[in-house]
Amino acid sequence: MKELKKMAVALAAVGSAVSAMAFLYGDVSDAKHAWAVHDPHRANPAKVTPADVPGQPPSDAIVLFDGTQKSFEENWVDAKGGKTKWKFVNGTLESVRRAGNICSRRQFGDVQLHMEWQAPVKVQGFGQGRGNSGVFLLGGLYEVQVLDSYETDPANMKNPNYPDGQAGAVYGQNPPLVNPTRKPGEWQSYDIVFHQPVFEGDTCVHPGSLTVFLNGVLVQDHWELEGPTWYLRRSRQVKPGTTKGSIQFQDHGNPVHFRNVWVRELPCRYANTTHGTYLAKEQDVAALRKKTAATLAAKLDTKNPGNGIRGILEVLSYDKDGYWTKYTEMKQAYLDGLARLDAEGIKAKKGEIFAIRNDLNLLIRNKVFPENCGFRAAIQKIITDNGLDKK
Ligand code: MG
Repeated sequence: MKELKKMAVALAAVGSAVSAMAFLYGDVSDAKHAWAVHDPHRANPAKVTPADVPGQPPSDAIVLFDGTQKSFEENWVDAKGGKTKWKFVNGTLESVRRAGNICSRRQFGDVQLHMEWQAPVKVQGFGQGRGNSGVFLLGGLYEVQVLDSYETDPANMKNPNYPDGQAGAVYGQNPPLVNPTRKPGEWQSYDIVFHQPVFEGDTCVHPGSLTVFLNGVLVQDHWELEGPTWYLRRSRQVKPGTTKGSIQFQDHGNPVHFRNVWVRELPCRYANTTHGTYLAKEQDVAALRKKTAATLAAKLDTKNPGNGIRGILEVLSYDKDGYWTKYTEMKQAYLDGLARLDAEGIKAKKGEIFAIRNDLNLLIRNKVFPENCGFRAAIQKIITDNGLDKK
């Protein structure tokens, strides 16, 4: 609450013009962060309308299967891009033996994926042969296992299975953290966040990751991919390849059903080179800071000296070198203006003068200005000489 109040006061103090919305407020941008803390100049997040019912697609989702034959035929093909032999049955997709994987026509990179699946009501087979399918990302490279894993406890010997091949596993790499599977025949949900590996040239700078919720329970906690998922073979990171591919459901010979499939395309988080992550590149950060400085400098309030000086101080926080000359001129003009005022005139500007002192303190704390900043000393002298800080 205290912070909200402070922000409200800061906003109120500078009037309603959006271009002069806040001046300096939180710790400023730096070599690894293009934006200040609580920076009002950052892009506002896009508005998304969530679904009324959990599990249903929000407004920005791409719906790949909504239970209609139309969405089946429009969005799904076989591995060669032709008509799939999978069946549309009672508003669901059914895996058909030897039909091959079903593939989204559209290609995706990093995604949030929701889908629901149902292991066959009629329990047949054993282990990897019981209700086996899978969700493949990036054209088949990475599998989140779909399997009837309801009774996998080795002690009861009903349906033991290797842990890294159970439902919720990143196949062959990491078992689910827990086993929240429902009985065969009951619908189960996956919510998957997939980030593909990031390469610089041939070097993998981040392996990519899978986060998976199975029936609302976290089973993969940002698992960093060792490479594509394999049967029997230890996975290893491959060379960079395609950055987009189909979402696929596996044909593993069992009639697994699917419904309610939608995705949201995600930015590659490691493509953020301008703020905060260890992949932030100083030249990219500097370029964006310069751009912000230029935008703010173009909107400087030239009519109100107080707003003007606070504005140029904010500009300096993004690009000190680029606007130093302008700052020096504006600072001198501002101090000259104060020097022409009598004691009453100075007193009338108390709020503005204190705000400038706060801005300078912030810039000193953030090492934009040195401790012995001359402007800060000049402002403090005016405050002291005029008794502005006396109660
Ligand atoms: Mg499978």
